Formats: sequence, C-alpha cells, structure tokens
Amino acid sequence: METKALKPETRLIHAGEPEPLIMGAVAMPIFQSSTYACEGGDDYSRLKYSRLNNTPNHDALHQKLAAVEGGESAIVTASGMAAISTALMAFLKQGDHFLAQNCLYGGTHGFITVDAPEMGVEADFIDGNDPESWEQKIKPNTKLIYVETITNPLIQIPDLEKIVEFARRHGVLSLIDNTFASPVNYRPLEQGFDLSIHSCTKYLNGHSDIVAGAVIGNRDLIERITHKLNRLGGTLDPHACFLLHRGMKTLGVRVRRQNETAQAVAEFLERHPVIEKVNYPGLTAHPQHDRARRLFDGYGGMLSFQIKGDVDRAEAFIEKTRIPICAPSLGGVETLITRPSSTSHSGVPQEERLKMGISDNLIRLSVGLEDADDIIDDFNSALND
Ligand code: PLP
Repeated sequence: METKALKPETRLIHAGEPEPLIMGAVAMPIFQSSTYACEGGDDYSRLKYSRLNNTPNHDALHQKLAAVEGGESAIVTASGMAAISTALMAFLKQGDHFLAQNCLYGGTHGFITVDAPEMGVEADFIDGNDPESWEQKIKPNTKLIYVETITNPLIQIPDLEKIVEFARRHGVLSLIDNTFASPVNYRPLEQGFDLSIHSCTKYLNGHSDIVAGAVIGNRDLIERITHKLNRLGGTLDPHACFLLHRGMKTLGVRVRRQNETAQAVAEFLERHPVIEKVNYPGLTAHPQHDRARRLFDGYGGMLSFQIKGDVDRAEAFIEKTRIPICAPSLGGVETLITRPSSTSHSGVPQEERLKMGISDNLIRLSVGLEDADDIIDDFNSALND
C-alpha cells in the first residue's frame, strides 16, 4: 500500500505489510528459518540468510520503519547499541574525527570514549546548544556530528535546526538518536538529518520484552550500514522482528497517551514544594520549551526531577512509590523509575557525571500507560510520607 500521503499513525499500521497478505494472515507471520533455498543465479545479494538481515520479517520491518520516519530505507539491529556502534563504524575509519553531544546515553558515551579511540577515531564533545563552539571544534578530518533528540537523563533538546544547517555547510553527516522522542513526536529525516537511530527496545516495541535497534536514512547510507552489520553480525532474530513489528502498530496510541500523562505528572511535580527541579519540555519553564513546541508533535513520556535533599531522600521516595517499577530502560507500558547515577550513567565517572549535570539525587521517570491520576496520587503519598 502506498502510504506516503498518510499520517505516521496510519503508516505504522499499514506500511510494509506483505501484499498480498501471506495466506491471508492479518498479522505478519514469523519466518523462523535461518536460511532459504537458493533461487538460482550467482549474485551474493540473492542469498537469503537471517544474519544478512533479508528475511521476510526483516524486509517488512525495514519498509515500515522507513515509511514511518519518511526515509528511503531502514535496517534493524540486535540492539540500540548495535545500531549506534555499527552506524558509527560504517562512516568512521582510523584517523577520522567526529563531534558528539556532551550528554548522551551512557553506552554511547562509552563507545565514543573507549572503543572509538581504540580504533584510532577521535571525538570532541560539544554543547548541543552552543553552535559557535561547534565551529571551533570542527577539523578537516571531521566526518560526522552525533546528537540525541532529547538527552538522557536531563531531557534537554539540542539546537536541532542549527545542527542540520552546520552539517550541510561543512559536508559532514548528521546522525541523531531519536529514541526518546519516537517517530510519533519527531521525524528527524523530514527535518534534514541524514540518519535517525532508535533503540527499538524502548518506545517502538513498547512492551519491555525485546532488545532491538534501527537506523533509518537514504538508500546509499543504509546500504553501507547493512554491509557493516552483515560483517559484524548484530542481526535481529525473526521472533524479535515479529514482536517489534507488532509493537510498532500501537506506537501511535501509546505515545499520545504517554505525552498526556507525562505532562500531567510534570505539572504536578513542578507544583510540589519538596521538588527542586523538573526537566520536561512540555513545561514552559523548560529552557527549550519553545523549540519543542515548534518542532515536536508531542513532548514525550520521559521526564526527570530532583527532590530537595540528598541521595537517601531520593532513594526513600523511590522505595515508597507503589506503581513505578524501579528498573532501567524506558518506553514500555509500565512506568519505570531509576536514579541514572546508579543505572544508565553508573559507568560515567562521578566527576564527569556531575559536570554533565547528573546529580546523585536526580530521578528519571518513563511514564507508562497507567491512569495518570493513579500515578499522581501514588507520587503525592510517597512525597508527603
Ligand atoms: N539510546 C538511548 C537514548 C538509550 O536510552 C539506550 C538504552 O537505554 C540506547 C540507545 C541503547 O539501546 P539498547 O539498550 O537497545 O542497546
């Protein structure tokens, strides 16, 4: 079905579905086969093999992902980190340099500070909201700029329009991790980014039951990443493809509901006297609220906040809540709560973490699909206890 003229929520359901439906199956069947009978000819690209990411489950997902974000092509991977590391390795070789935002997911930060230098690739960190400083850091061997739509866990939004303009002017690729926004709230390729990356473990799948990743972009760029992935081997297995495919069909309703609930929770926390600070782009006090209002279709389901007091106070609050599950990860149907300094960013040395603004009493919340009033009542009791 041609879905270009349709809204993202319709594309999520109909794009990439097999035509005709396989034996009439309305849900995409799982092709649990690692290899496929040769069709003749000696072209390597005609071979179908699960690690080569070209089974019917991969093909359907690639088309759906590309259509949803308005890209020509997409590739799914074994995890979000497989998507990030493979995409970076596809475009960076020994002697190259790249720019990366200074507040990124901990795993990405680790890849940039540990693995990239081991491969002879150098990076400089940049403040996503200080375009003048980017000019000072660019070098003749700079190949790309890497940012996140909404940073983890401080929920900041870099100057997305200036990043696209900067990358084009300097002839470097622009890569963005769009995990926190999801394609429902922001579609980077439509705004000029070259590659959009997702940890599909989060919103795209939405049920906290698989680990997966994806990169979306134009045909040539995705082909380069696919060749790299085929050699590195970070393929997504057919059953996980099936679950991701199923999860994506409900992304629209999930994210719209999570946008609403997160806004209500953020407003409640902002008013509460024991809360020091709330980071949520839907609040007018957020430093990039105007940018979010202009560029996003929703403010997302992620927020973070600091309770007045020390780390013990933050821990006590988490323990007193009944609805959220204290667990890392995000984007699922259940509300998850964590202290980033003890989970996602525990690998970043404390001094660096504090410099990034991640204090030990910072709490991160991934709002799920529970009733907003129930979450607020639960938080109110835990804060007033
Ligand atoms: N990008 C962001 C923003 C994340 O939060 C995470 C994981 O939490 C990742 C990438 C890595 O994804 P995965 O755990 O699927 O490898």
